[in-house]
Amino acid sequence: MIKKRLDTIRESIPAHVELIAVSKTKPNADIMEAYDAGQRHFGENKVQEMVDKHEALPKDIKWHLIGHLQTNKVKYIASFVHLIHAVDSLKLLKEINKQALKHDRVIPCLLQFYIAEEETKFGLDLKEAIELLESDEFKRLQNIQIDGVMGMATFSDDNEQIRTEFKNLKNIFNRLEADYFKSRPNFNIISMGMSSDYKIAIEEGSTMIRVGGTIFGQRG
Ligand SMILES: *Cc1c(COP(=O)(O)O)cnc(C)c1O
Repeated sequence: MIKKRLDTIRESIPAHVELIAVSKTKPNADIMEAYDAGQRHFGENKVQEMVDKHEALPKDIKWHLIGHLQTNKVKYIASFVHLIHAVDSLKLLKEINKQALKHDRVIPCLLQFYIAEEETKFGLDLKEAIELLESDEFKRLQNIQIDGVMGMATFSDDNEQIRTEFKNLKNIFNRLEADYFKSRPNFNIISMGMSSDYKIAIEEGSTMIRVGGTIFGQRG
């Protein structure tokens, strides 16, 4: 079942779009079914769950932390996390840098932007991102790397609204790329799109989709 659903999604998305299988709340057996079907990128939104799964499962899995990350929990994932999607403060970036340094590595991160209409606590706006990127403290960080942007559209049936929000994130990406990352080819990820809206996201320039329910079944 999982393999079939994965194949269906893979056949429908362009080759340049990376599929992250969002396995939060799902058992290791489900992850192994996806793994055996060739899936290597998995997304989790809770640190403890990701640590437990990392310990139990094959070490060539690339773990994406897609949910909000608390500063005091960075240390638990710093040795192995593949990409941190939801960076929304300089304080968090500084802690990621500090923990990455301990493990003698560079941790790739995405800046999360607040693009939805609904009230949420998380995500930067463009002005805040510019402040962050222009700060001397940011420029001194040697063990983090900003690889792109991430955002979530409003949970809505209104496809035009969702499309507008994704266009907005793409514009933010373009602007940051032109102003801050011109000579940095690693700044190339636009993480947007989930089960309900990944098709629209891809039409609007997504390069990385985070899909849970459509692969593993709805979460209970
Ligand atoms: C849960 C989650 C997803 C996947 O959602 P589905 O609707 O199950 O595809 C994607 N991104 C984030 C940040 C999530 O928390």
